[in-house]
Order: sequence, then structure tokens, then C-alpha cells
Amino acid sequence: MTVIKDTGQRAPLPPFGAEHEELRESVSRFVSKEIAPNVEEWEDAREFPRELYARCGELGFLGLKYETEYGGQGGDYVHDAVWVEELSHSGGSGGVAAGIGAHAEIATPPIWKFGTEEQKQRWLVPGIKGEKIGALGITEPGAGSDVASLRTTARKVDGGYVVNGAKTFITNGVRADFLVCACKTTEDGGHHGISFLVLERDMPGYEVVSKLEKMGWHSSDTGELSFTDVEVPEENLLGEENGGFYLIMANFQWERLTMALGALGGMQRVFEETLRYAKEREAFGRAIGRFQAIRHKFAEMSVKIEAAKQMVYATAWRFNNGEYPVREITQAKLYASRIIEEVADDAIQIHGGYGYMKEYEVERGYRDARLNRIGAGTDEIMLEVIGRSYGL
Ligand SMILES: Cc1cc2nc3c(=O)[nH]c(=O)nc-3n(C[C@H](O)[C@H](O)[C@H](O)COP(=O)(O)OP(=O)(O)OC[C@H]3O[C@@H](n4cnc5c(N)ncnc54)[C@H](O)[C@@H]3O)c2cc1C
Repeated sequence: MTVIKDTGQRAPLPPFGAEHEELRESVSRFVSKEIAPNVEEWEDAREFPRELYARCGELGFLGLKYETEYGGQGGDYVHDAVWVEELSHSGGSGGVAAGIGAHAEIATPPIWKFGTEEQKQRWLVPGIKGEKIGALGITEPGAGSDVASLRTTARKVDGGYVVNGAKTFITNGVRADFLVCACKTTEDGGHHGISFLVLERDMPGYEVVSKLEKMGWHSSDTGELSFTDVEVPEENLLGEENGGFYLIMANFQWERLTMALGALGGMQRVFEETLRYAKEREAFGRAIGRFQAIRHKFAEMSVKIEAAKQMVYATAWRFNNGEYPVREITQAKLYASRIIEEVADDAIQIHGGYGYMKEYEVERGYRDARLNRIGAGTDEIMLEVIGRSYGL
């Protein structure tokens, strides 16, 4: 009988093929060399350099899914999925992934999908190059999960709108050159009274009020913004007037998938770091990984990671094929967000006291992971979306 030795080598899981694995390699090389070694410094500085966007743009990573006529790579969501997962996996920084992701995965997509040709030239083209940085502004001090209750108003005037209000928790809020901003255009319109306007940082009345201090994601900037009589020309209206809620929901699907993909990358990073540690650290005369209690933790983690992978990849594949599988996207976001937190918690436990120390990467991994269950819709909202999808 031939014994097949498990070498640990795996064929790429669908929907990925050889071409995607090549892309994964090149992303990994870039991120391992130009991002990972600087993460600690950027975390302490509370920001990564602005030039990183231009560098990612130069390498084509900010435009993988966009058409070549706009400077993109002419790829699709599967190429982008590789980038998003690998940025977290090889970078090991929730903050860098968030800052780059807020620009390339949630701020430029609505311009690509809903923008006019002129709007694409103004914001998508320089966005793909990483020359102009974008942010998405939906959340307000009084409106988070309950998007329809937002209070930022855009009053119609001759030739455009006058915007008053505030946004909070906006990733890239401090450094963004343009903000894809949800505003109320019809006071009592509820879901049907929201429109998107693109606000620009140099517009009079547009103010960055503060850069918020956070539990994790330290190298990303999270801003609080206020708008006082900001005059926005009508050519900055994105999509249909009062059609903004549709834009929010459409945008959420890719955003939630990218949260799930980022979680996948992050959980694999934490697992690998911890495995290395468990093979090196000794107690009672043996590597701690040789204790059954620890070995079984790895076994449990690996099963969860594989389950999350299958779920996220299968859903990304369907999304890429033009389906709109809201239930499955929501399930994938919920599940991957829970699993990264569980894996990060086990990783700290396996590191013992060292896991609690800043010097060890899992400490940051644990703090960074926590945001996944809140951002782009909380666990509770994910459960609502899934539950309601059964007609309940
Ligand atoms: C670091 C960070 C970055 C972010 N980046 C951005 C960004 O770039 N752009 C942006 O627009 N937003 C951003 N957000 C905001 C984020 O999307 C919101 O924080 C999130 O949607 C939750 O809203 P909230 O914080 O107002 O919580 P709330 O809506 O006040 O919720 C508080 C609690 O009540 C629960 N809850 C609320 N409604 C229900 C319900 N119907 N049923 C059951 N439970 C409910 C929630 O699940 C939660 O547990 C960011 C947030 C953070 C922390």
C-alpha cells in the first residue's frame, strides 16, 4: 500500500486558479516587504503614510476590479478578493487594511457603479492611482445601524445643494480628499429621502472636527466631520436624487464581503504566528504545542478557519458571477467576524503572558479583530438581515 504523506501543500480552493495564486504571491511579496515591517511604527504614529496609496496604485492594486479605460486592471471581484485577503494576511494590520480598504472597497465602488462619466474622471481615475483618497460617510452621531434616521441635510438650491450636519467614525475621514456622503434630501422621506453627494475637503464649511482614538486599527484614521452650509454643485450628486438607500444597500454587499475576506486573512495570520510560537515555547520539558490541550486548540481553530474560508469564497464567487446573495453575504460576514475573534482569543491564551504584551503581534491582532463584529453592520443587524430573509 502506498502511503501518501501530507505535505501541507493544497490546491487553490475555487474560485481561485493559478492566475489568482500568482496575484496572491505578488501581493504577499509587496505587503511582506513594504508594509509588514513598518506596521509597529505606523501604529504608534496613529497613521500610515499617505504615499502608501500611491504605491498601491502604482502596482495596480487599487484598481483590480476596474476597467482599464479608467486605469484599472480589468479584473473582477475575485482578483480583488485575493488582494483584500492577502493584504490582511501578509500585513497583519487591521489599520492599514481598513485605510486602504475604505478607499478602494467602499468609497470608489459607488462612483464606479453609480457615477457619471465626468464623476469617474474626477474621482475614480485619480482614486485608482492613489492620488486622491476617498472615504464613505454614512454614520452619524445619532444614526448608526438605523441609517434611515440620519440628520445631515442637503437642501436644494439653484445649481446644487447646501449641506449641514455631521458624520462620525469615518475611516480616512481626516485625510480623505473626497467623501461619498449620505444626506437627507427629503426631510420626511425615511429610506426614500436619502441621496449621495460627493463632498470635497476644500469646500468652505467642510471641517474635520477630530481624529478619534480607538481600541485597535491604530494606523488608520477615523474622523469626525462637520458640515456648515457647504455648497455642493449638482454635478456632485451621485446616482438618483432620493435613491441613496439603494446605493447604501448595494455598497454594503461588497463591503461586508471584504470584511469577511479581511477577517479570513487576519485569522490565518494569527493562527500561523501562534503555531510558530507553540513550536518554540517550551514548558515542562517540551514545546507547548505538544500538550494535548494546546494541540486541540489548533485543531479547533483550523476547522473554524476552513469552514469560514469555504463560506466566504463560495459567496464571493457567486457575487462575482452577478448574483446578489444577500443572505449568504450576511452569513459570511457574521461568521468570519465571530471566528476571527475566537481565533485571536485562543492565540492570546496559547501565548500566555506574552500574548498580553504589545511586543507580540497577537496582542494587536486581538484588538484589531474586535471591530469586525461592529463595522459595516453589527452582529445584531446581520442576524436581523438573515432572519428576515426567511420571511420572518
Ligand atoms: C473603527 C470604525 C470605523 C468605521 N468606519 C466607518 C466608515 O468609514 N463609514 C461609515 O459610514 N461608518 C463607519 N463606521 C461606523 C459603523 O458602521 C457603525 O459603528 C455601526 O454600523 C454601528 O452603528 P453605531 O456605532 O451607531 O451603533 P448603534 O446603531 O447605536 O448600535 C448600538 C447597539 O445596538 C444594537 N442595535 C441597533 N439596532 C438594533 C436592532 N434593530 N436590533 C438589535 N440590535 C440593534 C447594535 O447591534 C449595537 O449592539 C465605523 C465604525 C468604527 C468603530
